[in-house]
Amino acid sequence: MSIGMPDKRDSYDVIVAGAGIGGLLSAAMLSKRGFSVIVFERLSFIGGRFTSFNFQGYEIPSGAVHMIPNSRGLFTKTLREFGIDYKKTDVWVECIWGNHRRSCRHAAGIFNTLESTSARWALAKVIFEVMRPQKNVETSFEGYLKSEIGNDELYRFFEVLTNFSLSLSMEDIPAKTMFKIIRDMLLQGLMGDNRVIPIGGCKGVIKGLKEVISAHNGKIVTNAEVRKILVHEGKVDGVAVKMGRECRELKSRYVVSNLGPIKTYDKMDEVDYSGVLSKLRGKKPPAGITISVAASKDMLGHSGITLTPISEHVCGIVQPTAIDPSLAPEGKHLLLTHQILKSRNIKNEIELGIADLHRIFPDFDEHCEILCTHSFHSDWPVNYLTQGEDLPNRTQIENLFMVGDGNKPPAHIMTEGIAHGVKQVVDAICASRIR
Ligand SMILES: Cc1cc2nc3c(=O)[nH]c(=O)nc-3n(C[C@H](O)[C@H](O)[C@H](O)COP(=O)(O)OP(=O)(O)OC[C@H]3O[C@@H](n4cnc5c(N)ncnc54)[C@H](O)[C@@H]3O)c2cc1C
Repeated sequence: MSIGMPDKRDSYDVIVAGAGIGGLLSAAMLSKRGFSVIVFERLSFIGGRFTSFNFQGYEIPSGAVHMIPNSRGLFTKTLREFGIDYKKTDVWVECIWGNHRRSCRHAAGIFNTLESTSARWALAKVIFEVMRPQKNVETSFEGYLKSEIGNDELYRFFEVLTNFSLSLSMEDIPAKTMFKIIRDMLLQGLMGDNRVIPIGGCKGVIKGLKEVISAHNGKIVTNAEVRKILVHEGKVDGVAVKMGRECRELKSRYVVSNLGPIKTYDKMDEVDYSGVLSKLRGKKPPAGITISVAASKDMLGHSGITLTPISEHVCGIVQPTAIDPSLAPEGKHLLLTHQILKSRNIKNEIELGIADLHRIFPDFDEHCEILCTHSFHSDWPVNYLTQGEDLPNRTQIENLFMVGDGNKPPAHIMTEGIAHGVKQVVDAICASRIR
């Protein structure tokens, strides 16, 4: 059994704190490379914000909407290495404007997603700017679009794109960060990159990683809360973990923390990080709402991302059942919407999102039924830190590393960013073993 109590030993090469996608990916890669690894997860399930729960036959996400951003990225490369199956989406992006739907199958067709010629010229200008490496704009992306581009349709296109892919308003992301994201998205897209949907959804990935960890003698312990990260003379020493009523100290040469930067700094023993912590606590993690909808027919006609400039709150929708029908009962579809959380009145924001769904799909009541709604904020946000403000994977403490969506290398987004961070940590641990 890989999920259960730790065995009698009290020392491991690597202790992983947290069984989110960052923690499990690290554990799978390190156990495969011959390290003895144990993962502690405070909840009764693994996967964190990257799994799902079956509700009335529908796989409802705990966070991620069953989509991985890059088919040619590092994350999918790692999934292939582990034999975890996924399928590429057939549309790069679709936009719903008023009565019109405009889509492209490849990045080269991005101009087709806009309605007016003036918006297409404006997009050409943005693309020209983002491809110039010397361009350095010291303003928010919103400020840049307003002052230098001035096209309402293009502004709306980027607004829904930023809301959907980063869960941020355009005023909250610096133009230079967004330039790099757009540049990478376009260059990768032109080389044939697209999003993918894992078979079995996010849970399919988690199941696959669990099997890899088990096959390499790694252990995962659920209902086990890491209370302290033990530090001795500037070097990590292990963790104190609470399982039931018992609190145990386990030693390890390395600790990989998937708890997010705030909890990681908060749990460090013998070190006062109150300055760093008060700065981090002052930042608001990106927050959002997802509405899960059961549909009796295929509402989108493709498996890619649909952006919804037609609506006021919902910014995008995916229908993962277009790739994997097993995510819903036979003959049904699962639609997942996303919107950013704009106020503290979550109930009202959800109602506004539902009103948008009727605007997007005039036949909504005929074919659709709302299954459930979820908000993501505070301790369970869309990202631990705002895109572009991530902290490095290495910490000041020797052999203590951080992985997850507060520690993505610059410009890499979502799970692709997490995979890049995990690789840096695995490489650093492997290199230090050789020394
Ligand atoms: C609505 C929404 C939609 C999204 N859509 C996508 C998408 O389509 N594609 C995509 O790539 N990304 C998407 N994301 C982002 C993605 O889900 C997250 O970036 C990713 O799942 C975060 O993984 P993580 O490992 O960093 O953190 P987490 O998943 O939060 O994992 C951390 C784990 O640590 C555990 N933990 C916390 N404290 C302790 C403790 N003291 N002891 C032990 N364990 C502890 C937690 O319970 C959790 O299981 C979305 C996110 C949301 C919320």
